[in-house]
Amino acid sequence: MTLSLTTPIEALSSVGKKRAELLKRLGIHTVKDMLYHFPFRYEDYSLITPIAEAQLGETITIYGTVLSMKFFVTKYGKKIIEGKVVDNTGIMTIIWFNQQYLLRVIREGNKGNFSGTVSWFGKRIVLSNPTFERESSENLNLHTGRIVPIYPETEGITSTWLREKVYALLTELADEITDYLPEHIQSSYNLMTLSDAIQRVHFPKMLEDAKEAKRRLAFDELLELHVISQALRRQRETSEKGIALSIHHDDIDQFKHALPFSLTPDQERVIQDISDDLSKNVPMNRLIIGDVGSGKTVIAAFAMYLLWKHRYSSVLMAPTQILAEQHHKMLSSIFKSFDIKIDLITGNTSTIDMFSDDHRIIVGTHALLTNQDILGNVGLIVIDEQHRFGVKQRTKLLKQHETIVPHFLTMTATPIPRTIAKTFLGNIDVSFLLSMPSGRKPIKTWLVPNEKRENAYEWIKKQIKETDSQVFIICPLIEESESETLADVKAVKKEYEKLKTIFSEFSIGLLHGNMKPKEKTAVLTDMLQKKHHILLATPVVEVGIDIPNATIIVIETAERFGLSQLHQLRGRVGRGQKQSYCLLFTESQDERALKRLKAMETIHNGPELADLDLLFRGAGDVFGVRQHGFPTLKIASFGDTHLLEQTKRAAEDLMQNDPDCLTIPHLRERIKKAIIGEIHD
Ligand code: ADP
Ligand code: MG
Repeated sequence: MTLSLTTPIEALSSVGKKRAELLKRLGIHTVKDMLYHFPFRYEDYSLITPIAEAQLGETITIYGTVLSMKFFVTKYGKKIIEGKVVDNTGIMTIIWFNQQYLLRVIREGNKGNFSGTVSWFGKRIVLSNPTFERESSENLNLHTGRIVPIYPETEGITSTWLREKVYALLTELADEITDYLPEHIQSSYNLMTLSDAIQRVHFPKMLEDAKEAKRRLAFDELLELHVISQALRRQRETSEKGIALSIHHDDIDQFKHALPFSLTPDQERVIQDISDDLSKNVPMNRLIIGDVGSGKTVIAAFAMYLLWKHRYSSVLMAPTQILAEQHHKMLSSIFKSFDIKIDLITGNTSTIDMFSDDHRIIVGTHALLTNQDILGNVGLIVIDEQHRFGVKQRTKLLKQHETIVPHFLTMTATPIPRTIAKTFLGNIDVSFLLSMPSGRKPIKTWLVPNEKRENAYEWIKKQIKETDSQVFIICPLIEESESETLADVKAVKKEYEKLKTIFSEFSIGLLHGNMKPKEKTAVLTDMLQKKHHILLATPVVEVGIDIPNATIIVIETAERFGLSQLHQLRGRVGRGQKQSYCLLFTESQDERALKRLKAMETIHNGPELADLDLLFRGAGDVFGVRQHGFPTLKIASFGDTHLLEQTKRAAEDLMQNDPDCLTIPHLRERIKKAIIGEIHD
């Protein structure tokens, strides 16, 4: 068998069926995947330390000869292997725990490297649990005496094993890894070649090497995303035909005059974006990102109005029946001075009669997405709060529209960082509603350090008594996970006991994810009926709560949360007319953490806070990034704005003469897949 990058992993004689299964858990299916399974850190064993110079606490490699090996059990029952190793400066004692098999592996007289940490063992200084590597002609210096890569592991697949396999593959395939990037791009962005990068990310000579290697690999990763985004956009602009409306200023003014309020500057900007989109003969595909209450519905109404003016029908889809009913009501009120037919499709109306000359507005749930009778006849599809921005839906719908493609508008309150949204939503254009309609008071937010905690409690008590406020107190989860653990429940119950003594004169409800739905409803009903003054809750229950009289939210250990998550929690208050407050409790002394939290005091919109999350915590932690179908990055970071800029330019450069990347097979394939909709999955 000739080995190549595409060879399936189970075909390697040294892997075998069982190991291949385990590797698949790490996402490794082919030889290439194995080479692209990058270390997440390195252990620096590069210096050989003379035994006489070993210092307590250091991680070192010694090179010497084994004098003796023995096994014993301590009085506490620990099974110990003790070895003595000599070099020409001294003798070192080595201790291994629970590894009796080493007696068979390492024998008196063996020579090699021992890499480990110098530490106390009882009253002796020893080298503890080192990795041993026998001196041999070829692969000394793979696990010791060098900068050693540490990989993401899984059961049955260790870093040591991976290291050996990767090393062997790299040796054999060195010539197979050819660079697809044109030389002028490599040189203008100062990149090492692909084969050097892969070699050095695994086996760097210096840590600096690894850094440069990662920069090259990150470059490739982001470049690919830009290439796909740009290709998708080009695809829509060149091969999809939409309905171009000729929009008159009068139409727009007429709509605005019919509203009971004037639009905010942000809303004005977005309706301008939409008018521009709808005047082109390329179908609109726009996403509006704005917090709850930022006024997205009226934007949707505007777009549907323009379609109606031009004798086309529109459909608006909401995630639930209740929301669809609310939209129907709101639209009916916005359009009461126009003679627009607005239909509400309820669960039991399966279809309505569509006459092509009978233009109207149809409101229903996302279930309408499968209704071809309706969707086949509309000029605009609006999807509200669709968690995947309708990427898939649109692709699916497109397949059914051979000739004219309807305009597409999606709306979401998910706080998505602007850098990511603008760059990587494929061919979706994005508009932001950052400001709130006037008249709404921003929620006053304070960061409360430990020394002000008592004062804060006193202030809360006063507020409850004097202004009849209700209070949420949010207790974070102990570990970051999707659901609550028993430890979390224990912690929140402990907090509950504590609060009962602090707020002894008030009634406190408790709400956590481990409660039965009936219990949860009961607590929330009590809170709504003001039977409780305070509700202690975990963040897992965040979404469903709507208690208009609650005006104070306290968030414990606030540094545990991302800013956009804090912002969503904060949105639980500020729903009524009264001034609302958000108190962020923290005991953190970390300057960076405090600076991050401080942003909550001045910034009051989700997307901007999400930007900061990206800067402070990296994309993995950004709320909603993965859930919303953004690509996950292996090695690059969405927070690296400089590299994002560079790769964007490089992608444009690359595609200028070869828009479909015909000369770069792997990119050509990715583009093809993206166009048929196999992206963002
Ligand atoms: P969301 O963005 O959460 O969908 P809505 O569209 O439901 O927000 O709007 C929230 C409320 O704000 C509605 O009652 C709406 O009528 C009102 N609203 C929207 N725009 C403005 C504005 N420019 N001035 C005043 N009120 C507005
Ligand atoms: Mg809405």
